[in-house]
Amino acid sequence: MKIGILGGGQLGRMMFQETIGLDLDLSFLDTSRSFPVGKIAHSFTEGDFTNYDDVIAFAKDMDVISIEIEKVNLKALYDLETQGKKIHPKPSSLEIIQDKGLQKEFYRKHSIPSSDFKLYNSKEEILKAIENEQVNYPFVQKTRKDGYDGKGVAIVHSETNLNKLLDGPCLIEPLVPIFKELAVIACRNERGECITYEVVEMVFDQEANLVKYLFSPAEILESTSETCRNIAESLIELFDICGLLAVEFFMDKKGEILVNEVAPRPHNSGHHTIDAAVCSQFENHIRAISNLPLGGTSQYKIGAMINILGEEGFTGQKKYMGLEDVLKLEDVHVHLYGKKITKPKRKMGHINVLGDSKEEIEDKINTIDKFFKVIA
Ligand code: ADP
Repeated sequence: MKIGILGGGQLGRMMFQETIGLDLDLSFLDTSRSFPVGKIAHSFTEGDFTNYDDVIAFAKDMDVISIEIEKVNLKALYDLETQGKKIHPKPSSLEIIQDKGLQKEFYRKHSIPSSDFKLYNSKEEILKAIENEQVNYPFVQKTRKDGYDGKGVAIVHSETNLNKLLDGPCLIEPLVPIFKELAVIACRNERGECITYEVVEMVFDQEANLVKYLFSPAEILESTSETCRNIAESLIELFDICGLLAVEFFMDKKGEILVNEVAPRPHNSGHHTIDAAVCSQFENHIRAISNLPLGGTSQYKIGAMINILGEEGFTGQKKYMGLEDVLKLEDVHVHLYGKKITKPKRKMGHINVLGDSKEEIEDKINTIDKFFKVIA
């Protein structure tokens, strides 16, 4: 079976790395072989996954097509599906997920708990709605398409923040009083077997107001964990997805759960599974789209993941600082993506940290934070 993946970034690289032992035939499409997968995969096509002709040409010899990024040419996927090619996730589900407005309508239609929302086409429309008291502060504005890592999200507390408003088609939802941000990764194969991983919790650096690390299993009630895993399982079935579906949740102080958004591919909240779980999210994605039995999701230990971002103030040929200090730590696993050039906040890798207690994990994370830097 020939498996074609649209995208050649770090997620593709880890799909390849995690399935070498299965001796599968994986090919990747992205614009440059210098990208993270290009260095390790033997079959890499240089081309643009947002371009119709490039996707069609790449898919010609493939038995199944999947993605490691959502922003791919949808029309090509629809046409390939019509021609009888296997496309995972299905183009009709991907179309909904690519658009946060359609996603929210999908949750409403299927009674999946998610915050209330309204769609708008422009900044002017929102300003008018505020004038007419149809929108109340504080609120969150999200562009419908192409947002990532918080880009395309504006949090508006009052009139003084209105300069943050983004233009173009978007949605507005109330600001949720978030107590914890959680995520669950579900996986489903063509036979309909479905599994979910342990719930992951984002730990914030209160001072910097940034995610410090991700941690699993989340420190929540067993019943909350069950709710999240059940919602993730319902969603992967409702979307009829084969492969992975990552579901992000907000939990308020009362323990109420709201779905924020989903991603039909490997996700940041599952990187720890490479070292902490029986079978990683990457291997399970490839198993699922190849219709193989799925691997176990239970964890050997508490697992945490810290993103390694390019240090502020450095742009150019990357250099790793403090790697030796990190490698001396027990049950700490370094995953660098092989990107040549570092830039401030660019995702250069991640480090998985395993431990028996949160304190042990925090100690190791603090050491990593202190010593490990990607500079130029
Ligand atoms: P992206 O797709 O860029 O990751 P998200 O929808 O996940 O965008 O939003 C980014 C972050 O903004 C969230 O992780 C959360 O911290 C905050 N956020 C988003 N929506 C809301 C909301 N309705 N209420 C409060 N905070 C929100």
